[in-house]
Amino acid sequence: MGKDKIQQIELKTRDILEQVLGKIIDLKPPINLAKVLEYFDVSLSLARFKVPSVAGAFDKRLKMIYLSKDEPYKRQFFTAAHELGHLVLNHKKNFDVFYRQQLSEFNGLSAEARAKEGKASEEKEANYFAASLLMPEELVKKFWNEKKDIELLAAYFGVSRSAAYWRLKNLKVI
Ligand SMILES: [Zn+2]
Repeated sequence: MGKDKIQQIELKTRDILEQVLGKIIDLKPPINLAKVLEYFDVSLSLARFKVPSVAGAFDKRLKMIYLSKDEPYKRQFFTAAHELGHLVLNHKKNFDVFYRQQLSEFNGLSAEARAKEGKASEEKEANYFAASLLMPEELVKKFWNEKKDIELLAAYFGVSRSAAYWRLKNLKVI
């Protein structure tokens, strides 16, 4: 994923947050994702998938996100934001299936991740979107300057430790 795309996604999530929730610096995480989904007229449904490695899915025409009942809340939270990313970023596919292992593939830094980039660029973009929406840059930097603790940061933003870690990496904070 190139710098331009990253910049574009950061601007997009900033716009959405300001539009729906107000000034970013005044927001109290976790981000109110329910309100953001409502703004885009997207519904959520908890489901049990036949394939256990599926974390979520999105039906673009129905504007319906399906989340696995069996996943912990933090993963459901991230998965829902990922699926919203496909809609907001105008990705072409009408039906997205998100696998559990993809949750940790959004860093774009590892060699394997880079090798996969061509095939899975929309997945990466949706992951980047989710991280950027749920962990706005300004708030992450402010929190990090005060606490310098990944566990606390993850708990504060309602995401997994690895999501928090990669957000810090991508923002070049660590
Ligand atoms: Zn996806």
